[in-house]
Amino acid sequence: MKTSRISGFYNMTVEERRKLLHEMGFLTAEDLNTISNRSSLDLETADHMIENVVGTYELPLGLGLNFLINDKDYVIPMVIEEASVVASASHIARIVRESGGFRTEATERVMIGQIQVVGCPDFLEAKEAILRQKQTLIEAANNAYPSIVTRGGGAIDLDVRILNEEAGSRFTQMLMVHIYINTCDAMGANIINTMVESLAPVVEDLTNGKVYLRILSNYADRCLARATCIISPQLLRTGDFSGEEVRDGVILAYELAASDPYRAVTHNKGIMNGIDPVVIATGNDWRAVEAGAHAYAARNGTYSSMTVWSKDEEGNLVGELELPMSIGTVGGATRVHPLAKASLEILGVESAKELAQVIVAVGLAQNLGALKALATDGIQKGHMALHSRSVAIAAGATGEMIDIVAEELIKQKQIRVGKAKELVEEYKK
Ligand code: NDP
Repeated sequence: MKTSRISGFYNMTVEERRKLLHEMGFLTAEDLNTISNRSSLDLETADHMIENVVGTYELPLGLGLNFLINDKDYVIPMVIEEASVVASASHIARIVRESGGFRTEATERVMIGQIQVVGCPDFLEAKEAILRQKQTLIEAANNAYPSIVTRGGGAIDLDVRILNEEAGSRFTQMLMVHIYINTCDAMGANIINTMVESLAPVVEDLTNGKVYLRILSNYADRCLARATCIISPQLLRTGDFSGEEVRDGVILAYELAASDPYRAVTHNKGIMNGIDPVVIATGNDWRAVEAGAHAYAARNGTYSSMTVWSKDEEGNLVGELELPMSIGTVGGATRVHPLAKASLEILGVESAKELAQVIVAVGLAQNLGALKALATDGIQKGHMALHSRSVAIAAGATGEMIDIVAEELIKQKQIRVGKAKELVEEYKK
């Protein structure tokens, strides 16, 4: 049986890790070949992806281990430049695993297309006119992209709002038409944009107004994924801190983020430390996910914590994370970038809905990793030890020198590039 609980992975060589992953069935021979290539994204493909290409830019691809989500084992591809993120996610996933794993769910994948209409002679009448033709407009949207209907998705609903109608508003009065579209396994930007653009002439006829913007909304609040975990306090014990102390420290840290935007931004950045690497590894649009996530964190009027941490009646720590998750397992770069394709294979997800749930579970784990460290030893102890190798490289260390300099930096408790440079010079003598 496939298990993501792989001990000693950290101590293996890169080659050994790849071989093991293949033997365990997480990687096909073809994907093994792809990730083993020095440059997986060839220049020709890159040159077709964006404009003015002069090269490709690589980042480390690591694996988050130990994830048990809805009783299924996942190995999580994570693309990130920051040390300690992958280790921290895997550490928390192991703890959550011992408490039964993450539970996740997701709504239907309904995305939003927006049409902006200005200059209507009578805005109320224009709104009514659109609502009267709701069914016709939905059908017209679907006729503009019939293949998504064949796949079981397509436009399903529509509504209209009048913006800036109050007298004295400094902004122009306008109608905002929202079309709700099930994009199945695609993020859906092209489906949505095609649909809203096709509706523009009909909307102008119905409203006697003029259509300007026609584009998807990245505030995908009908395409949500949710993860929860319930952790027994004894699993949280760390050094001299009892499990109850860690649990209470985590809850206090959450309460701070929930009450103070200055802390909430950093708290949420830590959540995105887990989310973005998976979104990037799978070839998805991380700007879209970032924008939607932060907007959702302000949905009650004040920017706040994305996660909620509490204690249940038995004293367990309970964590929850719900976010818009506009990602896909088809479309965009997901099937164009060879490593994105390999990452989806490693994950073994069968749908965008499943991928969205995995991503929020990683975000929840990452948040607990940060809060647990902050509530106990502080973030620097673990972080700087792992960061020391990057510091050594930045100071010019190469080959075996990297680990020697990194260990010396930790020993001397001076994880600084200046100190690392001195050590590199000494080593070279
Ligand atoms: P694509 O248009 O590349 O791919 C989606 C297409 O894949 C569908 O239209 C469908 O076409 C096909 N498809 C195959 N299998 C399925 C399935 N199971 N479910 C759904 N569709 C399937 O990608 P997207 O429209 O998703 O666009 C994503 C890209 O758009 C991202 O890279 C993003 O960066 C970019 N983008 C983002 C914007 C934003 O966020 N504001 C704005 C504009 C672009 P068919 O049925 O014809 O086969």
